[in-house]
Amino acid sequence: MKITKLETLHIPDYPNILFVGVHTDAGLTGWSDTYYMPDAMRGFIHQFASPMLVGHDPLAIELHWRRLYEVIAHIAGKGAEIRALSAIDCALWDIFGQSTGLPVWQLLGGAARDRIRTYNTCGGPGYGRNRGGRTGYGTDGPADGKYEDLIGFMTRPAELAQDLLSEGITGMKIWPFDYVVHQPGGWDDWRTFKGAFEPNLRTLGGQMISNADLERGLEPFRKIREAVGDKMDLMVEGHGFWSLPAAKKIAHALEPYKPFWIEDLMRADDVDALAELQHSTTTPVLASEYLTTRYEYKPVLDKRAAEIIMIDPTWAGGITESKKIATMAEACKRPVAMHDCTGPFTLMAGIHLAINCTNAMIQETVRAYLRVTYPDMVTDIPVVERGQILAPTKPGIGTSLLPDVRGREGVTSVVSP
Ligand SMILES: [Mg+2]
Repeated sequence: MKITKLETLHIPDYPNILFVGVHTDAGLTGWSDTYYMPDAMRGFIHQFASPMLVGHDPLAIELHWRRLYEVIAHIAGKGAEIRALSAIDCALWDIFGQSTGLPVWQLLGGAARDRIRTYNTCGGPGYGRNRGGRTGYGTDGPADGKYEDLIGFMTRPAELAQDLLSEGITGMKIWPFDYVVHQPGGWDDWRTFKGAFEPNLRTLGGQMISNADLERGLEPFRKIREAVGDKMDLMVEGHGFWSLPAAKKIAHALEPYKPFWIEDLMRADDVDALAELQHSTTTPVLASEYLTTRYEYKPVLDKRAAEIIMIDPTWAGGITESKKIATMAEACKRPVAMHDCTGPFTLMAGIHLAINCTNAMIQETVRAYLRVTYPDMVTDIPVVERGQILAPTKPGIGTSLLPDVRGREGVTSVVSP
């Protein structure tokens, strides 16, 4: 079997996602997706990766990873190049699975479990969607709209927690402190918050948090604990916005509410600062979907800077690299959590890894994505039963693009050579 061409496909309604296909002369095509700056990834895939891969055996997965990584490292590439490599790697695993008739988790060495616990990241159906050429938090939906879980955790957190528990979901991730960082009006403007990309000369940008803002941010935690006690695990998302003293202050204030983890209160770019945060709090620090390859995870593990390791398979280096990162974490007694909130193939890759890796703890999902967004893109959605995702059974990655996607308005496909 030989690789014949690489394809990238973009749907304007989901502006951050790039679908990546690897075609073969056996008639098999492996697919993946990755997220953020699709044009930059397209450039790498068609200018660099395609000439390096076409004509070669798609199942020499380790060889292709190393060859592509060496080119990327040579040009000090980091973000878009690694994300593109990640998607190509996942597509090769999809081909491997399709060609053997086995799901990817089986090819990784088989099951460590037959299902993996999931939690709900409380984004709504508009989270990350195209809104007049820009993407953001998607809080322009109806306040009582179905699966409007971001509006939910800001306005009716107890009701949302009860609703999730009724489905068997016993973990939820929320980010009520985000609105203090970038909005001139802080809390009062939260529904207009477009994200960190908006220029703003009137905020402190996360250097510190006032006591009043801290109390507002704690409100959902307080209300959820009052309503459902300890039945719900609460994950705190910080999106990397805070300084060390602000992160310490938030972490300390959250301790009475016993969060399951505190995630990316700071960016994971200063490992010493991250270690300082971890050692200042009894709550496990989680780091980080922002890290790529074993080489960036190694110092976090070496310095004991986080107790839980988050991996995004289509950002960190693909299935091949994510398995190695998980094993490194296991050697340091750290569990891993797999990232979603991006694209359907990324979620599937995470699930296969979570079924296989002995130290996998939990898989992120967004119920709005599982029920609204992903069914608009792919044929198969993971099966969730009472808060547990069942091991996929189909060969390969276990889902494929809907046949009508190519014909949709504005969809672009680039093929090379
Ligand atoms: Mg996150």
